[in-house]
Amino acid sequence: MSDKRDYYEVLGVSKSATESEIKSAFRKLAKKYHPDLNKDDPTAADKFKEAQEAYEVLSDEKKRKQYDQFGHAGVNSSAGGFGGFGGSGFGFDASDIDLGDIFDSFFGGGFSSSRSSGPRRQDGSDVLRRMNLTFEEAIYGCEKDLELDVIEECSTCNGKGGLNSKTCSKCHGSGTITTEQHTILGSFVSKTTCPDCRGTGKTYETKCKDCHGEGQVKKHKTLTINVPAGIATGDRLRVAKKGNPGVNGGLPGDLYLEFIVKEHEYFKREDNDIYLEVPITITEAILGCKKEIPTLYGPIKLAIPAATDSGDIQRIKGKGVDNKAKHSKGNMYVTFKVITPKKLSRDQKKLIEQLNKTDLVDPEIEKFDKFTQSNQ
Ligand SMILES: [Zn+2]
Ligand SMILES: [Zn+2]
Repeated sequence: MSDKRDYYEVLGVSKSATESEIKSAFRKLAKKYHPDLNKDDPTAADKFKEAQEAYEVLSDEKKRKQYDQFGHAGVNSSAGGFGGFGGSGFGFDASDIDLGDIFDSFFGGGFSSSRSSGPRRQDGSDVLRRMNLTFEEAIYGCEKDLELDVIEECSTCNGKGGLNSKTCSKCHGSGTITTEQHTILGSFVSKTTCPDCRGTGKTYETKCKDCHGEGQVKKHKTLTINVPAGIATGDRLRVAKKGNPGVNGGLPGDLYLEFIVKEHEYFKREDNDIYLEVPITITEAILGCKKEIPTLYGPIKLAIPAATDSGDIQRIKGKGVDNKAKHSKGNMYVTFKVITPKKLSRDQKKLIEQLNKTDLVDPEIEKFDKFTQSNQ
């Protein structure tokens, strides 16, 4: 942006130049750097473009004001880019020259071949859809039906938009309209796409009723998606060629599915590892036990060692997510939670009271008691 020349300097006018002075300066420059008249000067096209850009801003009262106030930064964001030659809306009066057309004829359509070589082939855009999965569907993989509105080629007219084709009478089948313009720069021949046949060279006796001449129809479809095992929230699956359709023979875009996986009440997932909190009684914690616990692959018997604390973790190898998509398998981590009984029978209470009379010595408790005493 900053290496751009000042627009007034480009046109060689003062900052207080009137509208007609600007116009006349531009016309002189346009003639001088007209690439057709400067075939030996490779910089002429750039100078012409520079003048065109300066004129585009300074001839527009609003843009000129912005430019005066903020310089190049003031107009570039709102101008929508100066680089394109294809547009006809360059801010000129109807009586002015369509520079887009002039450029087309200079460069043999090299800048924007679409203007003169028939309809433009364009690939369809990609589509992103979100899909909800239950925890189990994501872990084990599943088949899911996806309801889609697909835009397809009309089968009645094979995408042509009409029936009984005939040569376009406006362009006589060439697909382009050649017009000669007499301007102050001389005569120019410009080519534009035929509006009647949109560049195909053919029109139809009857407009297709099914697609109203569009050549495309919207269809409601159900697509069955094979969701691989191991999907996590945020994972994306590409379904080739199920995006938006292409235009004029272009390929359809792809469909991307982004998954949202519902959380499980007990199994917590982190990457391919599964975390499970297992509640145990105080006696199970003290004495140790064998306890059946659930895994992703059915229940297993787990040996819980004696003197297990709340928060102790045991790793169970290979019982995490079998991620087919990423070819990796996680582990399962069991965290124990010792549950203090809330309701005790009379007998149980007696036993606990008896236990309490014994000296339950533990180095950790002793250490803490010492700390308490030193804290006086
Ligand atoms: Zn035509
Ligand atoms: Zn049709």
